[in-house]
Amino acid sequence: MIFDFIFFNQNYCYVCKDEKTENLICSSCLERLDFIDGNFLVDNNRVYYPLFYNNYIKEIIREFKFHKKTYLVKPLAAILFKYISQKEELKDIDYVSFIPMEQRALFDRGFNQAQLLANELADLLDVEVISLIEKNKKTREQNKVSLTQRKENIKNSFRPIDDCNIDGKTILLIDDLVTTGNTLREASQTILINNKVNIKFLTITSSRIGEDDD
Ligand SMILES: [Zn+2]
Repeated sequence: MIFDFIFFNQNYCYVCKDEKTENLICSSCLERLDFIDGNFLVDNNRVYYPLFYNNYIKEIIREFKFHKKTYLVKPLAAILFKYISQKEELKDIDYVSFIPMEQRALFDRGFNQAQLLANELADLLDVEVISLIEKNKKTREQNKVSLTQRKENIKNSFRPIDDCNIDGKTILLIDDLVTTGNTLREASQTILINNKVNIKFLTITSSRIGEDDD
């Protein structure tokens, strides 16, 4: 299995690979993205996301996740970092964490896109990445399950990692995409079993009205 981790020609846009740019993303790609200040509550914690779920970001995420174009983590993390930098509610993050994948699912894909995003973003923020939970149940992909069954599908699928000793800290929990928020809810409830922490969620976009979920 070969992962497209490194996109070598740094004079070209990381997303389209067509246009030259000084940055990771060219102006044409930026124009095709719909920047918003998206957020909604999942129980007591808020999920934030900087992009409206249009076809362009949908395609970029698909390429990243399912076609192993892992170099796309660079422009995606840059978008998240810029969003956080401008957002008062997301200042003072102590740790970045991520939604884990179950071992066999991780083996099949070869990487966890949420973990890649967390690593890249933590570097930019100059904070540490922390693993707080494991996924111990192989669930069906949330987007293969009807909206009403998703809560049941993800239930009890995470297990806390013991004694992280981070009480009082603020955790930024990363996933690539949110729809119903069931995955984020289940993950945060599992984290809170062992840790008295403040959790904020960050995703690239939300397909809340769409059909894809994770
Ligand atoms: Zn481009």
